[in-house]
Amino acid sequence: MSNNHTACQVNYEEVEKNICIACRKVGRKREEITLLAVSKTKPISLIKELYEIGVREFGENKVQELSEKIEALPTDIQWHMIGHLQRNKVKYLMGKTTLIHSVDSLRLAQELQSQAEKHNLRVSILIEVNMAEEDTKFGIRSKDTEAFVRELSSFQNIQIQGLMTSAPNVEDPEENRVVFRKIKQLAVDISKKNIDNVNMNVLSMGMSNDYMVAIEEGSTMVRVGTGIFGKRNYNI
Ligand SMILES: *Cc1c(COP(=O)(O)O)cnc(C)c1O
Repeated sequence: MSNNHTACQVNYEEVEKNICIACRKVGRKREEITLLAVSKTKPISLIKELYEIGVREFGENKVQELSEKIEALPTDIQWHMIGHLQRNKVKYLMGKTTLIHSVDSLRLAQELQSQAEKHNLRVSILIEVNMAEEDTKFGIRSKDTEAFVRELSSFQNIQIQGLMTSAPNVEDPEENRVVFRKIKQLAVDISKKNIDNVNMNVLSMGMSNDYMVAIEEGSTMVRVGTGIFGKRNYNI
């Protein structure tokens, strides 16, 4: 892109190219993958720069920040809640998100069901899986995922669309290939059970460091922050 584009517009196009390269490598179609621009901690102005080049899907990890950004930005943006969600914040999300990626407990799911019912909504969610079983991460353990999905399948105001995971922070993204492969297999296995009210169409995995490997292993949604917006500064 020419130099009248801003840094994050150029970065976005670069990520876009890499996605195409990964798709070509394994014979997938570009349309199978959604690129989420993870805008947490980043200002409205940068989101607007991406909006100008047609970007409409953004990911945030804090309810307060998400709400402020929704207020300030065009209504045709699709917002994804990708961060850990506390039950007392669920009510503020109703009707605002396209997809909540981080459902990882029965109590959270119950609150989502109850609020969604109250607002007469059907809320799309992913089940967050702690695939690598890291102590520091949220998420359901792999072996408990099917039972959890079955439990939630009776919640009429929740629609399970698939699984989400955050792979470990590694030096070489190849190290995460096995993690991605395993969660893809888990999604396929659950999908084969044909559980009522449950979809396994979305596989949200791959971040700045490893999204190409994630795509090669079946990701349908990559969540890229740093690779588009640059490093985050949490000290301001
Ligand atoms: C911050 C965040 C991302 C983006 O991470 P980058 O490494 O900056 O691309 C993706 N997913 C989740 C859940 C996040 O919290």
